[in-house]
Amino acid sequence: MIQFEHVYKKYPNGFEALKDINLTIQQGEFVAIIGLSGAGKSTLIRTINRMHDISGGRITVDGTEVMSLQGKELRRFRRKIGMIFQSFNLITRTTVIKNVLTAFVPELPGWRAALGIFKKEEKLSALEALDKVGILEKAFVRADQLSGGQQQRVALARTLAQNPQIILADEPVASLDPVTAKQVMDDFKKINQEMKITVLLNIHHVDLALQYAARVVGIRNGEIVYDGPANQVDEEVLNLIYRSDKEETA
Ligand code: ADP
Repeated sequence: MIQFEHVYKKYPNGFEALKDINLTIQQGEFVAIIGLSGAGKSTLIRTINRMHDISGGRITVDGTEVMSLQGKELRRFRRKIGMIFQSFNLITRTTVIKNVLTAFVPELPGWRAALGIFKKEEKLSALEALDKVGILEKAFVRADQLSGGQQQRVALARTLAQNPQIILADEPVASLDPVTAKQVMDDFKKINQEMKITVLLNIHHVDLALQYAARVVGIRNGEIVYDGPANQVDEEVLNLIYRSDKEETA
């Protein structure tokens, strides 16, 4: 369970990107965060694995207070949480399987990591993860020879190899064409349903959010203005989330 209690995030320049966020996400939920660009979606996602520190309130994951973690504990905590980015973050000049195997690097003795020596069971887990996202046949292809959608699937496989409880995805389909974006969203859905992994993603395609997520959180100017079932998001709710400041003052 991920829990935000009165969470605030102020950037060093004084900008308050999150204001009094209260949010509870149960294990196994599929939640989409929507809102205008700059609303605070990415900031919210990145506070969960401490890519960003919060400036007030409390975030707990399964009862562990995220801000209290340091060093080895923080690294161990982050292993439970997979992170997917818009830009895939692959090592493009090497093979797909080697990219997935990097998921094991933080746990390896230094010499194995340096030499890139992996055990048979690690290689099998990597292949299994590629199979789950339907690109096993690409295992020995160089990552830069894949399409954007396939590269995002490799990133997803790398995350799965980590055996996460939660997957956070920061605009995972923003740089993909509509057809490929749907395929990647199908993968998220499959992973969520079959493996009971919590999926929390932010997305600017409202239609995809409503189609795939069970629950939608709408953010506006750093505040949650909607939190409820995707099938109850109607025009009124969308107006609340996407209304621009200009319209408000007009
Ligand atoms: P979204 O993901 O909804 O587009 P972000 O979470 O990326 O929004 O950003 C929320 C707000 O915080 C934006 O106004 C952005 O300009 C600001 N912001 C993001 N990162 C920083 C930073 N490092 N320093 C100052 N302000 C930032």
